[in-house]
Amino acid sequence: MSQNKIPVLDLNPQYESLKTEIQAAINRVLESGQFIMGSDVKLFEQEVSEYLGVKHAIAVNSGTDALVIGLRALGISVGDEVITTPFSFFATAESISNVGATPVFVDIDPETFNIDPEKIQEKITPQTKAIMPVHLYGNPAAMLEIMEIAQKHNLKVIEDCAQSFGAKYYSQNNTNGKHTGTIGDVGAYSFFPSKNLGAYGDGGLIVTDNDQIADLSRMLRVHGSKKKYHNEVLGYNSRLDTLQAAILRVKLPHIDQWNEGRRRVAKIYNQLLGDVHGIVTPEMTNGHVFHQYTIRVLDGKRDAVQNYLTQQGIGSMIYYPVPQDQLPVYQGKYPVNSVSDLLATQVLSLPIWTELEEKDIEHIVQFLQQFA
Ligand SMILES: *Cc1c(COP(=O)(O)O)cnc(C)c1O
Repeated sequence: MSQNKIPVLDLNPQYESLKTEIQAAINRVLESGQFIMGSDVKLFEQEVSEYLGVKHAIAVNSGTDALVIGLRALGISVGDEVITTPFSFFATAESISNVGATPVFVDIDPETFNIDPEKIQEKITPQTKAIMPVHLYGNPAAMLEIMEIAQKHNLKVIEDCAQSFGAKYYSQNNTNGKHTGTIGDVGAYSFFPSKNLGAYGDGGLIVTDNDQIADLSRMLRVHGSKKKYHNEVLGYNSRLDTLQAAILRVKLPHIDQWNEGRRRVAKIYNQLLGDVHGIVTPEMTNGHVFHQYTIRVLDGKRDAVQNYLTQQGIGSMIYYPVPQDQLPVYQGKYPVNSVSDLLATQVLSLPIWTELEEKDIEHIVQFLQQFA
């Protein structure tokens, strides 16, 4: 057992760096007595929409709710099909099923871990209403191709940006890049504490340039009412707490620098792991924000590598051991998608956070080399 234990994620350095400001923000909310939809919520919505470059930002209770409300605002319901990736956290498919629609799974590209745009067309039926790409691990999905398919077939696009706050998508002939979530009709973000922009509790966000989608989302957030006690549709109780909004306002100005720190960590890993036998390193695309740094371990050795790292005191995670379409909840309803099925046996996410030090990365890599 080595002396220094390294967890898979350490949120403490970030808190330490902003402790005074965060505590002041919390105190300010406590003293205001405005815990629900206080002014910090509105201000956060303004600031985050400006940062992302989008007309409307609607803060909600979680990333999952952002997906559900986003789908409802797009008019997706019973009888509709929504195309998505099997390789994601279950909230992605769950949101589709929970609005009464049917998720249709399209296999992933093994290089990007994201939905393979070339396999989308063959899954489109007269019932298909939308595509829900996920920018997994912070790596933007192939939005140019996805938007082309959506336009051709008159489909809506709702981006699951839970892992990609601050990520930018660069298409071939575009040097500026556009934030993920602002390319499709709706973007859905999560502020779960471990996400790139994390609250100290649950939180989420819906973004859109469309006024009607924004109005409907705002209504759905508060029990389907525009005017209090004049409920027009069935909605939800899904507000972002004022406390979380105040905390997120302290954090938002730092996000680009934090994401740059994650890219730095990923670059070091990629350099050091580049020629380690049996390991495939992730691609370093423009605009990738490395919510996770995820390698592929070949030759059926993934679990053994993870056990070895655990013995050495090094944290790691498997995102995700079972593709969404193969989860017990769908009771064998879907055929296996071969790429996601294989990758579920190979992926291993290594420790990553903004402040992770080079010597710790070297320490982790040393064990991976030893194992190889
Ligand atoms: C975290 C996550 C969600 C759900 O976000 P919550 O805020 O936890 O509800 C949805 N999709 C993906 C891909 C996620 O990683």
